Amino acid sequence: MSQQHDHKPAVMDENRRKFLKLVALGGGVSLLKATAWVPEAGAAGGTEALLLSCMDFRLMDEIERYMSGRGLRDKYDHVILAGASLGAITDKYPAWNQTFWEHLDIAIKLHDINEVIIMDHRDCGAYKVILGAEHTRDPNVEKDTHAVHLKKLKGMINEKYPKLEVETLLMTLDGKVEVVG
Ligand SMILES: [Zn+2]
Repeated sequence: MSQQHDHKPAVMDENRRKFLKLVALGGGVSLLKATAWVPEAGAAGGTEALLLSCMDFRLMDEIERYMSGRGLRDKYDHVILAGASLGAITDKYPAWNQTFWEHLDIAIKLHDINEVIIMDHRDCGAYKVILGAEHTRDPNVEKDTHAVHLKKLKGMINEKYPKLEVETLLMTLDGKVEVVG
């Protein structure tokens, strides 16, 4: 027990070091990019939003199309976690939770985002893996299940960052999006 306890912080330190190294590299690159672009673009550093979506390969172009349709092409940061809202809050994969919050923090610091868009989708494999497939048998139950997790994450973001707007969305496999939660 105590061995495990001693071991954990060391692992976290190592991960943290790696993460900070990545952040340092990423920050450097984006700083250079910002410097290069500001005179032409006329828009200072920031961007509109951070999108959290699932990793599902079937929906990548639908997501991009949806964001472009809202005029957000090339104007949003994108964090991908299997299960989207569920990935950010599930007890089953705590490292994913941490990854989400760290990326949100970086997006705020680097790009001064003012909105988080959380995009769940129907027939989500990660939801099935984490919660079981039962909820997908009835479309209404499936929607409610997503609403619970979307709402929970929205509440957590509101609490930590009260100035951020949070949208909670559910996409069908043919790319239609509705507000849920
Ligand atoms: Zn999914």
